[in-house]
Amino acid sequence: MAIRIDFRSDTVTRPTPGMLDAMMHAKVGDDVFEEDETVNELEAKLSRIFNMEAGLFCPSGTMTNQIAIKCFTQPMDEVICDQTAHVYRYEGGGIAYNSLASVRLLHGDRGILTPELIDPEINEPNIHYPDSTLVVLENTVNKGGGACYHLNQIQPIHALCQTKGLKLHLDGARIFNALTETGDAAKDYGQYFDGISVCLSKGLGSPAGSVLLASKETIRKARKIRKVLGGGMRQVGFLAGAGIYALDNNVERLKIDHQHARALESTLNSLSYVDHVMPVQTNIVIFKVREGLEAINIVRKLTDLGILCNTTNRDTVRFVTHLDITSEMIDQAIDILKNLQP
Ligand SMILES: *Cc1c(COP(=O)(O)O)cnc(C)c1O
Repeated sequence: MAIRIDFRSDTVTRPTPGMLDAMMHAKVGDDVFEEDETVNELEAKLSRIFNMEAGLFCPSGTMTNQIAIKCFTQPMDEVICDQTAHVYRYEGGGIAYNSLASVRLLHGDRGILTPELIDPEINEPNIHYPDSTLVVLENTVNKGGGACYHLNQIQPIHALCQTKGLKLHLDGARIFNALTETGDAAKDYGQYFDGISVCLSKGLGSPAGSVLLASKETIRKARKIRKVLGGGMRQVGFLAGAGIYALDNNVERLKIDHQHARALESTLNSLSYVDHVMPVQTNIVIFKVREGLEAINIVRKLTDLGILCNTTNRDTVRFVTHLDITSEMIDQAIDILKNLQP
């Protein structure tokens, strides 16, 4: 059989037999009426895990982020985030469209922000300026090659936001990858954020779904916004069941994905066509190709050999490890990478 090893994203995973079984047996009801037991259970479970008051199951991570931004801003406000942020780059201009807010872009190290970077960018009250009302952090940082915050880097950002009266939202699409790497406890996160988005369809391997975590009051507002965006679903416990299964079975194993990413990193570091690999922290490997080479040509050659990956720039290539990548596949991929004639 032809080789096909898919490193394009951790969203390409397919539900395992165990997950499908959990989905088939989920107890469902009409979630717009808040009567889907499995959705309610998932929302309560994740709220407990992160020590937040309430949760809201949504079709995508984009929707959880956009709802949070809508909840935490007014038209003409300004959102502060890193220039690589998913909420800014990959949500289709949703901040402008949904929230009528502007964005202040910072330049963090691999997308990681500090109070020193944020503080000078917070506008003083003045009729000329948009009101700075929200900071968005991403953990792990997708475009930063899976770089992650430790909780002790988040605490001073929270303190600054408190002092200046800004809300703090976490785009935690890959928060469990961050927790796996840092050893921080999920239950310590809730106190530092007004909102947390958690994706079930990335490393956790669910077919779809994300949960927004926040206070009860925020979630009441968020539920209305979800409805307006067309995200009110009915017997969606079939998907929430996959999410519960994922939380019970697929969190511990994320360390395997990180080991696989490090194995790729060490091979790539030894190859003549690789200029530099961003030090791997979690499940994303981004490398820069040697001067004179085009990343897209490397990706095409690898694709022809059955190794699927993406460019992230003219001169960078990205590999993402996940649930459907086995150790045997990593060995095969390493062989192919070593023998590639760029
Ligand atoms: C994938 C991702 C999201 C959500 O994306 P959806 O495809 O809408 O689920 C949000 N933030 C980050 C950092 C992501 O990587």
